[in-house]
Amino acid sequence: MESPEVRRRTMQAVKSKDTCIEMHVRRLLHAQGYRYRLHRADLPGCPDLVFRSRRKVIFIHGCFWHGHQCARGKRVPKTNTDYWTAKISRNSARDAATRDRLKGLGWKASIVWECELAKHTGAVLRKLSRFLGPVESKSG
Ligand SMILES: [Zn+2]
Repeated sequence: MESPEVRRRTMQAVKSKDTCIEMHVRRLLHAQGYRYRLHRADLPGCPDLVFRSRRKVIFIHGCFWHGHQCARGKRVPKTNTDYWTAKISRNSARDAATRDRLKGLGWKASIVWECELAKHTGAVLRKLSRFLGPVESKSG
């Protein structure tokens, strides 16, 4: 059985990893000239990157935390498996509900997964450029 302390450490480790991949994406887009706002709490799901004039948002998801269907995402801790399985499926359900709410409000969302970024940064950048459209000289 995993102690609350161990569980807390696991969560922190996963969260700081999420922050790290988020920084990676932010740097990539910023270098291309895209301007964005961060973590707008007035939008459903508090999206990681918000492109207001384009009405588009980007979420950067850790594969474990958000239950991605990939090798990384399917790795569930061997202790407290039920706890983690339930928690992660709640997270995925909430993500889906968030995307629906954003869509209902007229916002488009794109997701960058940790594994995509680890595999091929260039492909992620191309995907996001297609999603966002051309860089404007004015900030959004
Ligand atoms: Zn993944």
